[in-house]
Parts: sequence; C-alpha cells; structure tokens
Amino acid sequence: MSIVSRFAPSPTGPLHLGHAFSAMLAHDMARAVGGDFLLRIEDIDRARARPEWEALIFEDLHWLGLRWLQPVMRQSNRLPAYGEALDMMWEMGLLYPCSCTRRDIAEALSAPQEGVTQGPDGPVYPGTCRPATPPTGPRPDGVLRLDMARAVARLSATDMPETLDFVETGDQTDKFATSLPLPRMIDTCGDIVLARRGMGTSYHLSVVVDDAAQDITHVTRGADLGPATLVHVLLQRLLGFPTPVYHHHRLIRDEAGKRLAKRDDARAIRLYRDEGLTPAALRARLRLPPAP
Ligand code: GLU
Repeated sequence: MSIVSRFAPSPTGPLHLGHAFSAMLAHDMARAVGGDFLLRIEDIDRARARPEWEALIFEDLHWLGLRWLQPVMRQSNRLPAYGEALDMMWEMGLLYPCSCTRRDIAEALSAPQEGVTQGPDGPVYPGTCRPATPPTGPRPDGVLRLDMARAVARLSATDMPETLDFVETGDQTDKFATSLPLPRMIDTCGDIVLARRGMGTSYHLSVVVDDAAQDITHVTRGADLGPATLVHVLLQRLLGFPTPVYHHHRLIRDEAGKRLAKRDDARAIRLYRDEGLTPAALRARLRLPPAP
C-alpha cells in the first residue's frame, strides 16, 4: 500500500519543537517508502488564525527541508464540504442545536446527582438541549451537537463491528484507548459539538472530512490527540470514510519537563534557526534519524 501522510498545523502561533517532530515523522514515514506527504492549514478558528503565523509555518517547514505535494489544503476554503457532512448527519437525525454556554454546562454538572466524566473536549455534556425526537426542517446554523446515543444505535443497526477501534503504530498506547465497545461512547464521550458557534464546523468534523478528502492513509500527531481518535473513527463510520492508520507520538517537553504549547515562544523553531542550529542538529536533538 502506498502511504499518504500529512502535517496539519493551525496557524495560531509559532511552530515549536513538537510540531517539527510531528511534521518530520509524517514526512519521513511517507518518503521512506516513496509515498506522499501533504500539508493542510487548519485555520477554521478565524478569531485565532493569523496570516503571519501561516507564513512562518511555510518558512519553518522549508527550513526543516520538508517538501509536500501541492496544492496545500486550507480549511477556511472547505466550509461547503463540512456543510455537506453536517447535512448528511442532520438528515440521519443525529444532530441537534445547542444553546448552552460553558457556564450552563458547568452548573448542570454541579448538580449532586451528576458525576462528571471528562471526554475528549472536557466534561461530558449533560444533555440539557438534547431533544426527545430528532429535530426536523432545514439544518440551522450555530452550535450543533451529535446525539451520541442515536449515532451508536445507527451504527449498531449495521453489520459493522460492535467495537470501535483503529490501528495504532505509536508507543503511547498507555495514554488512550485504541478500542472501545460502541455503546461506551455514550458515557465516555457524550454529545460532542460538531459545529461551533460562528465556525460552521469543529476540529473533529474538519479533520475527519479532510483526511478522507486528501486520501490520508497514515495520521501522525501528538499523543494529546489520542483520546479524540475514537471520536474520529465513529465519524468516519457514520460518514462512510475509511479509517487511516494512526501514529500518536510522544510529546516533546522543554528542559524543565513541561509540555510545549504554542504560547511558549521560547522553543519556537524560528529561535533555533536564528541561533544558527542546523536542521540536522535539530533532528539529532529530537532523536530522529537523518532525512530519508
Ligand atoms: N491542527 C491540529 C493542531 O495543530 C492537529 C490536528 C491533527 O493532526 O489531527 O494541533
């Protein structure tokens, strides 16, 4: 099988060492076997994405010596594709509008009878806006949640396996589940948001629609996204997409052992460039072999 991998940064800050690691792993994995490496700019969060961060991503990736197939996919151009996926699930009766604020959710969850479980996006939604029967009529704009119980029932009624799972080739499997009986998605994950306010999509929906549109066979990303992957597998099954192979890698930490975040400019790749470090030395520091 030919490998198609991708790097999918969000232009909301400088790329740091962890991003370089992710990008180089994905690139090397494809290049080692003559496969394709693609780039996707995940700029659906218009309030945080900035053209100057995007420009810096291109500069940093070129400096690292990475090359990718054209065209680059940009999520801000993909709203019609996300709309189509939402329409499909709306027509299946799997979505409902939600008007809860974070505060409403926190208050509902502080009721004594509610036990709070953390899902991939924070506390599992208490179901305040979930209707007894699926809403009808045209799909509204605004926040839309997936009715997880209905999604599970729909998938259970097909001949697909009763377990959600995916192939993981990374070594971080103690940090997240790679398989789960389908009905457990209801209590561990709950009614996730698929369309965010003012966005017309969400990270989970866009990543699934776009990995399918780009025919990605291998997804490489940090272990922090491991817990989101069963959600992605569920969406792939609902939308009729194949499930890629996943490789969740270790998180790169700073000297003090703290996880790197976009705001920690201290470890931005640009600073290493400015200090005169070579990409080869950066690879060595990350314990990556020379570029294939
Ligand atoms: N855009 C996401 C990020 O920068 C990565 C998404 C993914 O690789 O699935 O964290």
